[in-house]
Amino acid sequence: MTPISTLGEFGLIERIKNKFKTTHNQVIKGIGDDAAVVPIGNGLVQVYTTDLLAEGVHFDLSYAPLRHLGYKAVAVNLSDIFAMNAVPFGITVSIAFSNRFTVEAIDELYEGIKLACERYHVDLLGGDTTSSRQGLVISVTAFGQAKEEEIVYRSGAQPNDLICVSGDAGAAYAGLLVLEREKNSFVNNPELQPDLSDYDYVVARQLKPEPRGDIIQELREMGVRPSAMIDVSDGIASELHHICHQSKVGALIYANKLNLDYQTLKVAEEFQIGATTFALNGGEDYELMFTLPLKDYDKVKSSGNFHIIGKITPDEKQIQILLDTGGIADVEAQGWDHFRGENG
Ligand code: ADP
Ligand code: MG
Repeated sequence: MTPISTLGEFGLIERIKNKFKTTHNQVIKGIGDDAAVVPIGNGLVQVYTTDLLAEGVHFDLSYAPLRHLGYKAVAVNLSDIFAMNAVPFGITVSIAFSNRFTVEAIDELYEGIKLACERYHVDLLGGDTTSSRQGLVISVTAFGQAKEEEIVYRSGAQPNDLICVSGDAGAAYAGLLVLEREKNSFVNNPELQPDLSDYDYVVARQLKPEPRGDIIQELREMGVRPSAMIDVSDGIASELHHICHQSKVGALIYANKLNLDYQTLKVAEEFQIGATTFALNGGEDYELMFTLPLKDYDKVKSSGNFHIIGKITPDEKQIQILLDTGGIADVEAQGWDHFRGENG
Protein backbone atom coordinates (compact mmCIF):
# COMPACT_ATOMS: atom_id res chain seq x y z
CA MET A 1 0.00 0.00 0.00
CA THR A 2 1.27 3.47 -0.91
CA PRO A 3 1.07 6.32 1.61
CA ILE A 4 -0.59 9.46 0.15
CA SER A 5 2.45 11.43 1.32
CA THR A 6 4.51 9.92 -1.53
CA LEU A 7 2.33 11.88 -3.98
CA GLY A 8 1.50 15.00 -1.98
CA GLU A 9 -1.65 17.01 -2.60
CA PHE A 10 -0.79 18.14 -6.14
CA GLY A 11 0.43 14.67 -7.15
CA LEU A 12 -2.81 13.17 -5.93
CA ILE A 13 -4.93 15.71 -7.85
CA GLU A 14 -2.88 14.98 -10.99
CA ARG A 15 -3.47 11.24 -10.48
CA ILE A 16 -7.23 11.79 -10.18
CA LYS A 17 -7.25 14.12 -13.19
CA ASN A 18 -5.47 11.55 -15.36
CA LYS A 19 -8.21 8.99 -14.72
CA PHE A 20 -10.95 11.24 -16.09
CA LYS A 21 -11.48 12.83 -19.47
CA THR A 22 -14.24 15.41 -19.93
CA THR A 23 -16.86 13.85 -22.21
CA HIS A 24 -18.99 16.94 -22.79
CA ASN A 25 -17.07 18.95 -25.31
CA GLN A 26 -18.69 22.19 -24.17
CA VAL A 27 -16.55 22.09 -21.00
CA ILE A 28 -13.93 24.80 -21.61
CA LYS A 29 -11.84 24.07 -18.49
CA GLY A 30 -12.14 21.16 -16.08
CA ILE A 31 -9.64 20.22 -13.37
CA GLY A 32 -6.47 22.29 -13.17
CA ASP A 33 -7.27 25.95 -12.65
CA ASP A 34 -8.80 27.99 -9.82
CA ALA A 35 -12.27 27.21 -11.18
CA ALA A 36 -13.91 25.18 -13.95
CA VAL A 37 -15.35 27.08 -16.92
CA VAL A 38 -18.54 26.16 -18.83
CA PRO A 39 -20.30 28.24 -21.54
CA ILE A 40 -23.88 29.37 -20.97
CA GLY A 41 -24.53 31.01 -24.35
CA ASN A 42 -24.36 34.57 -25.69
CA GLY A 43 -20.57 34.58 -25.24
CA LEU A 44 -20.96 34.15 -21.47
CA VAL A 45 -19.43 31.49 -19.24
CA GLN A 46 -20.04 30.26 -15.73
CA VAL A 47 -17.19 29.31 -13.41
CA TYR A 48 -17.37 26.85 -10.53
CA THR A 49 -15.06 26.19 -7.61
CA THR A 50 -15.27 24.34 -4.31
CA ASP A 51 -13.19 24.41 -1.13
CA LEU A 52 -13.58 22.47 2.07
CA LEU A 53 -12.52 23.52 5.57
CA ALA A 54 -12.07 20.83 8.23
CA GLU A 55 -11.81 21.47 11.96
CA GLY A 56 -8.36 20.69 13.32
CA VAL A 57 -6.79 21.03 9.85
CA HIS A 58 -7.95 24.41 8.53
CA PHE A 59 -9.26 26.01 11.68
CA ASP A 60 -9.11 25.77 15.46
CA LEU A 61 -12.27 26.84 17.25
CA SER A 62 -10.32 27.68 20.38
CA TYR A 63 -9.34 30.94 18.69
CA ALA A 64 -11.35 31.17 15.44
CA PRO A 65 -14.80 32.66 16.17
CA LEU A 66 -17.54 30.77 14.27
CA ARG A 67 -18.71 34.00 12.70
CA HIS A 68 -15.27 34.61 11.19
CA LEU A 69 -15.07 31.00 10.12
CA GLY A 70 -18.32 31.30 8.18
CA TYR A 71 -17.03 34.45 6.51
CA LYS A 72 -13.72 32.81 5.67
CA ALA A 73 -15.34 29.69 4.19
CA VAL A 74 -17.13 31.93 1.69
CA ALA A 75 -14.16 34.27 1.14
CA VAL A 76 -11.71 31.52 0.13
CA ASN A 77 -14.11 30.33 -2.54
CA LEU A 78 -14.84 33.79 -3.92
CA SER A 79 -11.09 34.27 -4.15
CA ASP A 80 -10.95 31.41 -6.70
CA ILE A 81 -13.78 33.00 -8.72
CA PHE A 82 -11.93 36.35 -8.81
CA ALA A 83 -8.75 34.49 -9.80
CA MET A 84 -10.52 33.58 -13.06
CA ASN A 85 -11.35 37.28 -13.59
CA ALA A 86 -15.02 36.41 -13.10
CA VAL A 87 -17.71 37.90 -10.86
CA PRO A 88 -19.34 35.62 -8.24
CA PHE A 89 -23.12 35.50 -7.90
CA GLY A 90 -23.95 32.47 -5.75
CA ILE A 91 -22.75 29.84 -3.30
CA THR A 92 -23.90 26.57 -1.81
CA VAL A 93 -22.84 25.68 1.73
CA SER A 94 -22.68 22.14 3.11
CA ILE A 95 -21.94 21.45 6.76
CA ALA A 96 -21.30 18.36 8.87
CA PHE A 97 -21.15 18.81 12.64
CA SER A 98 -21.10 16.72 15.81
CA ASN A 99 -23.57 16.96 18.69
CA ARG A 100 -21.22 19.34 20.50
CA PHE A 101 -22.59 22.18 18.31
CA THR A 102 -25.67 24.11 19.45
CA VAL A 103 -28.29 26.03 17.48
CA GLU A 104 -26.59 29.22 18.66
CA ALA A 105 -23.24 28.00 17.30
CA ILE A 106 -24.68 27.22 13.85
CA ASP A 107 -26.44 30.62 13.94
CA GLU A 108 -23.07 32.28 14.53
CA LEU A 109 -21.51 30.40 11.63
CA TYR A 110 -24.32 31.50 9.32
CA GLU A 111 -24.07 35.10 10.54
CA GLY A 112 -20.56 35.12 9.09
CA ILE A 113 -21.70 33.43 5.89
CA LYS A 114 -24.43 36.08 5.57
CA LEU A 115 -21.97 38.93 6.12
CA ALA A 116 -19.76 37.62 3.32
CA CYS A 117 -22.78 37.15 1.03
CA GLU A 118 -23.80 40.75 1.63
CA ARG A 119 -20.30 42.14 1.33
CA TYR A 120 -19.63 40.38 -2.00
CA HIS A 121 -23.19 40.43 -3.25
CA VAL A 122 -23.67 36.68 -3.65
CA ASP A 123 -26.76 34.59 -2.94
CA LEU A 124 -26.92 31.44 -0.86
CA LEU A 125 -28.44 28.97 -3.33
CA GLY A 126 -28.55 25.77 -1.27
CA GLY A 127 -26.35 23.22 0.42
CA ASP A 128 -26.52 20.13 2.59
CA THR A 129 -26.66 19.46 6.33
CA THR A 130 -25.47 16.32 8.04
CA SER A 131 -23.91 15.05 11.24
CA SER A 132 -20.30 14.11 11.83
CA ARG A 133 -18.72 11.83 14.42
CA GLN A 134 -16.35 14.58 15.44
CA GLY A 135 -15.88 18.22 14.67
CA LEU A 136 -17.09 20.59 12.00
CA VAL A 137 -16.60 20.39 8.26
CA ILE A 138 -17.71 23.21 5.93
CA SER A 139 -17.75 22.81 2.18
CA VAL A 140 -18.61 25.79 0.00
CA THR A 141 -19.11 25.83 -3.76
CA ALA A 142 -19.08 29.19 -5.51
CA PHE A 143 -20.51 30.15 -8.90
CA GLY A 144 -19.42 33.09 -10.99
CA GLN A 145 -19.95 34.56 -14.41
CA ALA A 146 -17.97 36.43 -17.06
CA LYS A 147 -17.70 36.97 -20.77
CA GLU A 148 -15.70 34.12 -22.25
CA GLU A 149 -12.93 36.47 -23.42
CA GLU A 150 -12.58 37.95 -19.94
CA ILE A 151 -11.60 34.63 -18.33
CA VAL A 152 -7.96 34.45 -17.28
CA TYR A 153 -6.25 31.07 -16.85
CA ARG A 154 -3.07 30.10 -15.05
CA SER A 155 -1.60 29.18 -18.43
CA GLY A 156 -1.35 32.48 -20.33
CA ALA A 157 1.90 34.02 -19.05
CA GLN A 158 4.45 35.04 -21.72
CA PRO A 159 8.18 35.84 -21.43
CA ASN A 160 8.75 39.48 -20.37
CA ASP A 161 5.33 39.77 -18.73
CA LEU A 162 5.33 41.61 -15.41
CA ILE A 163 4.52 39.50 -12.33
CA CYS A 164 2.21 41.35 -9.93
CA VAL A 165 0.86 40.50 -6.49
CA SER A 166 -1.87 42.41 -4.67
CA GLY A 167 -1.63 43.55 -1.06
CA ASP A 168 1.09 42.28 1.24
CA ALA A 169 2.54 38.80 1.66
CA GLY A 170 2.73 36.40 4.60
CA ALA A 171 0.39 38.27 6.94
CA ALA A 172 -2.12 35.43 7.36
CA TYR A 173 0.65 33.01 8.30
CA ALA A 174 2.05 35.56 10.75
CA GLY A 175 -1.42 35.74 12.30
CA LEU A 176 -1.57 31.95 12.56
CA LEU A 177 1.79 31.78 14.33
CA VAL A 178 0.74 34.42 16.84
CA LEU A 179 -2.62 32.74 17.53
CA GLU A 180 -0.93 29.34 18.01
CA ARG A 181 1.63 30.91 20.36
CA GLU A 182 -1.11 32.56 22.44
CA LYS A 183 -3.07 29.33 22.53
CA ASN A 184 -0.05 27.42 23.84
CA SER A 185 0.71 29.98 26.50
CA PHE A 186 -2.93 29.90 27.60
CA VAL A 187 -2.82 26.09 27.86
CA ASN A 188 0.31 26.35 30.01
CA ASN A 189 -1.02 29.19 32.13
CA PRO A 190 -4.80 29.78 31.94
CA GLU A 191 -4.46 32.90 34.12
CA LEU A 192 -2.73 34.71 31.25
CA GLN A 193 -4.98 36.95 29.18
CA PRO A 194 -3.84 37.09 25.57
CA ASP A 195 -2.90 40.56 24.37
CA LEU A 196 -3.06 40.63 20.58
CA SER A 197 -3.23 44.40 20.14
CA ASP A 198 0.24 44.57 18.55
CA TYR A 199 -0.82 41.90 16.07
CA ASP A 200 -4.34 43.01 15.17
CA TYR A 201 -3.67 43.29 11.44
CA VAL A 202 -2.04 39.87 10.95
CA VAL A 203 -4.59 38.13 13.18
CA ALA A 204 -7.43 39.66 11.13
CA ARG A 205 -5.69 38.49 7.94
CA GLN A 206 -5.68 34.93 9.29
CA LEU A 207 -9.22 34.88 10.69
CA LYS A 208 -11.14 36.99 8.21
CA PRO A 209 -9.51 37.20 4.78
CA GLU A 210 -10.96 39.50 2.12
CA PRO A 211 -10.86 38.13 -1.45
CA ARG A 212 -9.65 40.77 -3.92
CA GLY A 213 -12.68 41.52 -6.06
CA ASP A 214 -11.55 45.15 -5.88
CA ILE A 215 -8.43 44.27 -7.89
CA ILE A 216 -10.50 42.66 -10.65
CA GLN A 217 -12.55 45.83 -10.76
CA GLU A 218 -9.47 48.09 -10.76
CA LEU A 219 -7.84 46.19 -13.64
CA ARG A 220 -11.05 46.49 -15.65
CA GLU A 221 -11.15 50.22 -15.02
CA MET A 222 -7.50 50.51 -16.08
CA GLY A 223 -8.37 48.68 -19.29
CA VAL A 224 -5.91 45.85 -18.71
CA ARG A 225 -6.47 42.12 -18.75
CA PRO A 226 -3.93 39.85 -17.04
CA SER A 227 -2.32 37.20 -19.23
CA ALA A 228 -2.39 34.70 -16.34
CA MET A 229 -3.82 34.77 -12.82
CA ILE A 230 -4.10 32.64 -9.66
CA ASP A 231 -5.07 33.41 -6.09
CA VAL A 232 -2.43 33.15 -3.39
CA SER A 233 -3.76 30.44 -1.08
CA ASP A 234 -0.54 28.43 -0.61
CA GLY A 235 2.09 31.20 -0.77
CA ILE A 236 3.71 33.16 -3.60
CA ALA A 237 6.30 30.45 -4.29
CA SER A 238 3.77 27.70 -4.84
CA GLU A 239 1.46 29.89 -6.96
CA LEU A 240 4.37 31.10 -9.09
CA HIS A 241 5.21 27.47 -9.82
CA HIS A 242 1.62 26.80 -10.91
CA ILE A 243 1.64 29.78 -13.30
CA CYS A 244 5.07 28.86 -14.70
CA HIS A 245 4.33 25.15 -15.16
CA GLN A 246 1.00 25.77 -16.81
CA SER A 247 2.32 28.59 -19.00
CA LYS A 248 5.58 26.71 -19.79
CA VAL A 249 7.72 29.68 -18.79
CA GLY A 250 10.17 30.60 -16.02
CA ALA A 251 10.31 33.59 -13.70
CA LEU A 252 12.69 35.94 -11.97
CA ILE A 253 11.36 37.74 -8.92
CA TYR A 254 13.13 40.23 -6.65
CA ALA A 255 13.22 39.75 -2.88
CA ASN A 256 13.27 43.51 -2.32
CA LYS A 257 9.98 43.90 -4.22
CA LEU A 258 8.04 41.55 -1.95
CA ASN A 259 5.66 43.62 0.14
CA LEU A 260 5.50 42.71 3.83
CA ASP A 261 3.48 44.56 6.43
CA TYR A 262 5.34 45.86 9.47
CA GLN A 263 3.50 43.42 11.77
CA THR A 264 4.44 40.50 9.51
CA LEU A 265 8.11 41.53 9.65
CA LYS A 266 7.88 41.73 13.42
CA VAL A 267 6.44 38.21 13.69
CA ALA A 268 9.05 36.87 11.24
CA GLU A 269 11.74 38.31 13.48
CA GLU A 270 10.18 36.94 16.67
CA PHE A 271 10.00 33.46 15.15
CA GLN A 272 13.44 33.83 13.56
CA ILE A 273 12.20 33.10 10.07
CA GLY A 274 13.71 35.12 7.21
CA ALA A 275 11.34 37.76 5.80
CA THR A 276 11.74 36.42 2.24
CA THR A 277 10.94 32.84 3.26
CA PHE A 278 7.96 34.17 5.10
CA ALA A 279 6.65 36.14 2.14
CA LEU A 280 7.22 33.27 -0.31
CA ASN A 281 5.79 30.43 1.73
CA GLY A 282 3.24 31.95 4.10
CA GLY A 283 -0.17 30.64 3.02
CA GLU A 284 -3.79 31.83 3.18
CA ASP A 285 -3.29 35.45 2.15
CA TYR A 286 -5.95 35.15 -0.58
CA GLU A 287 -4.31 37.90 -2.59
CA LEU A 288 -4.14 37.70 -6.39
CA MET A 289 -0.99 36.97 -8.39
CA PHE A 290 -1.18 37.90 -12.07
CA THR A 291 0.99 38.60 -15.06
CA LEU A 292 0.62 41.59 -17.38
CA PRO A 293 2.14 42.35 -20.76
CA LEU A 294 5.00 44.86 -20.46
CA LYS A 295 3.05 47.30 -22.64
CA ASP A 296 0.59 47.78 -19.76
CA TYR A 297 3.27 49.08 -17.39
CA ASP A 298 2.34 52.73 -17.80
CA LYS A 299 -1.32 51.99 -17.10
CA VAL A 300 -0.65 50.12 -13.86
CA LYS A 301 2.52 51.64 -12.40
CA SER A 302 0.69 54.08 -10.13
CA SER A 303 -1.62 51.51 -8.49
CA GLY A 304 -0.99 51.26 -4.78
CA ASN A 305 -3.04 48.07 -4.54
CA PHE A 306 -0.63 45.68 -6.21
CA HIS A 307 3.12 45.43 -6.68
CA ILE A 308 5.33 44.29 -9.52
CA ILE A 309 7.59 41.63 -8.00
CA GLY A 310 9.41 40.39 -11.08
CA LYS A 311 9.12 39.18 -14.65
CA ILE A 312 8.39 36.07 -16.66
CA THR A 313 11.41 34.49 -18.37
CA PRO A 314 11.57 31.98 -21.26
CA ASP A 315 13.26 29.01 -19.58
CA GLU A 316 10.66 26.78 -17.95
CA LYS A 317 13.25 25.22 -15.69
CA GLN A 318 14.28 28.49 -14.04
CA ILE A 319 11.99 29.92 -11.39
CA GLN A 320 14.35 32.14 -9.48
CA ILE A 321 14.64 34.94 -6.99
CA LEU A 322 17.23 37.71 -6.77
CA LEU A 323 18.03 37.90 -3.07
CA ASP A 324 18.81 41.02 -1.06
CA THR A 325 22.41 39.77 -0.87
CA GLY A 326 22.68 39.96 -4.67
CA GLY A 327 22.71 36.17 -5.10
CA ILE A 328 20.18 34.23 -7.14
CA ALA A 329 18.33 31.22 -5.71
CA ASP A 330 15.69 28.79 -6.94
CA VAL A 331 12.18 29.47 -5.67
CA GLU A 332 11.15 26.26 -3.93
CA ALA A 333 7.42 25.51 -4.03
CA GLN A 334 6.74 24.40 -0.50
CA GLY A 335 3.12 25.39 -0.09
CA TRP A 336 0.86 23.99 2.56
CA ASP A 337 0.83 20.30 2.04
CA HIS A 338 -1.46 18.80 4.69
CA PHE A 339 -0.61 15.33 3.44
CA ARG A 340 2.99 15.86 4.46
CA GLY A 341 1.91 16.85 7.94
CA GLU A 342 2.29 20.59 7.35
CA ASN A 343 -0.28 23.26 8.01
CA GLY A 344 -3.85 23.54 6.64
P1 ADP B 1 -7.18 26.05 -5.30
O1 ADP B 1 -6.02 26.10 -4.34
O2 ADP B 1 -7.22 27.17 -6.28
O3 ADP B 1 -8.52 25.86 -4.58
P2 ADP B 1 -6.64 23.31 -5.68
O4 ADP B 1 -5.16 23.15 -5.57
O5 ADP B 1 -7.49 22.95 -4.50
O6 ADP B 1 -6.97 24.77 -6.19
O7 ADP B 1 -7.18 22.46 -6.91
C1 ADP B 1 -6.55 22.54 -8.17
C2 ADP B 1 -7.48 21.89 -9.18
O8 ADP B 1 -7.72 20.52 -8.85
C3 ADP B 1 -8.86 22.53 -9.27
O9 ADP B 1 -9.26 22.51 -10.63
C4 ADP B 1 -9.74 21.62 -8.44
O10 ADP B 1 -11.09 21.65 -8.86
C5 ADP B 1 -9.11 20.25 -8.72
N1 ADP B 1 -9.29 19.28 -7.62
C6 ADP B 1 -8.82 19.36 -6.35
N2 ADP B 1 -9.15 18.28 -5.62
C7 ADP B 1 -9.86 17.47 -6.45
C8 ADP B 1 -10.50 16.20 -6.31
N3 ADP B 1 -10.45 15.54 -5.15
N4 ADP B 1 -11.11 15.66 -7.39
C9 ADP B 1 -11.16 16.35 -8.56
N5 ADP B 1 -10.58 17.54 -8.78
C10 ADP B 1 -9.94 18.11 -7.73
MG1 MG C 1 -6.95 29.14 -6.16
